[in-house]
Order: sequence, then structure tokens, then C-alpha cells
Amino acid sequence: MALSDDVFSVLRENLVAIKPDYGGRPDVVICPLCLRDVHRDEVLAGGVEHIIPRDGVRRDSQDAKDLATTNQRCGLTVLCRSVRGIAGYEAKQGCNGFKGSRYDWRLRLLLDDGAHASPRLSTRHAVGILTMAYLGAFQVFGYGYVLRPELDEIRRQFEMPDRAETYWLESVQYATSPSSLIATATGHPFLFGSIARQEAPLHVAFRNCQAYLPGGHWQVPTGVRTLAALSPR
Ligand SMILES: [Zn+2]
Repeated sequence: MALSDDVFSVLRENLVAIKPDYGGRPDVVICPLCLRDVHRDEVLAGGVEHIIPRDGVRRDSQDAKDLATTNQRCGLTVLCRSVRGIAGYEAKQGCNGFKGSRYDWRLRLLLDDGAHASPRLSTRHAVGILTMAYLGAFQVFGYGYVLRPELDEIRRQFEMPDRAETYWLESVQYATSPSSLIATATGHPFLFGSIARQEAPLHVAFRNCQAYLPGGHWQVPTGVRTLAALSPR
């Protein structure tokens, strides 16, 4: 079975567990960034999307490459690819194209373990990092987390590359020193932390980046698979 088929199946299972009304629409999942429907054909034809751009992990150490594949080290998601208007701009390739052109291109060389001359993070860099943290949370916690209303402002921020829309943007941190890369035992990129308090944020760390997201304390549904259950080669 193709990877995109596996990804679609897991997302379907996750979506229907959270929103049973989608049970009668077997060919549809939801884009985590715009919440529009994404059809199975679209996923199979377009393939899956890396959360962290592939160029960001290309120069990983051999140890990291032995531990996990490129797909695993980037993290996977599905994003819509059909035309949509974003802040007055026509995104022909949907959220997928918008993420690639607005954020991935600019961040792709900042995510490795080399030394980086301290770049003053532009708003756009910060939004790109916040978006990756959000998609990482989607990969691990699924629709049950991202469909919470507190996350609306993160989605709105994705649509505004150059203007701060949410104070969560101020939580973004980027480490410039070499060897500050976050390592996990599995090679998967995202680490999460939170405390059991109703209003606590979700701390997300990956590569040389960190950010906080709203709604860090909620009930994770048990027995429902998310994309993190896949171990794609
Ligand atoms: Zn979308």
C-alpha cells in the first residue's frame, strides 16, 4: 500500500473517532490548516507533505540517518492542494503550496545542526516555526487537538506571513549554536511537554526550534491512532 494511502486511512480513522458525522463521507479528511475537506483522490495524487522541509534534514549526521528515514525525521502531514484565497492572495496549490512558498523555502537552511550566524528571526520565520509546531502536534495528537477552538488563532496566523496575529508568535525560539539540535530516541522530530492545568500551553520542541501552543491540557482520546502511529520508510 502506498504511503499516502496509509496516511489517508489513519487520518480517516482519527477524524471519524473525533467527528462521527464524517462517518458517512468515506472519501474525505480535513486539511489541518484551513479545515476544508481534502478528498482521498487528492491525497493519493499529490502525496504526503513533510512538516519539516526535506532540505532541513539533508545534512543530518549518519547516526540520525541510521536511526530514522527522511520521512520520519521530517514528520508527515496532509494539506489541501486545491485553490483557495489566503489574505487576498490566490494560493493555487492550497495550503500545501502556501506553506512551501511562504515558509519552507525561507526556513529550509536554518534547521540543521550547523552554526548559523544569528539571524534576526523575521515575522515570517517565526510563523513558519509556529506552523511546524502546530503540524507536529497534529501528527502526534490528531484532530482531537487541532480542532479545538483555541487553535483558530494559530491557523489565522498561518495565513499572515508578515504580520503578528497572535501573541503565541512571541513564544517562538530559535537556537543558533551548533549542536543545539533536539534529539529523540526514535528519530521522530517533535517533543511535547505540558502540565496538567486547565489553561496550560503545549510546549513543542523540534530541531533547533521551540514554540508554545494554546490548549496544552486536554483529554487525549485513547485507542485512536494518529499519524505518529506510522513508521514510514
Ligand atoms: Zn488547507
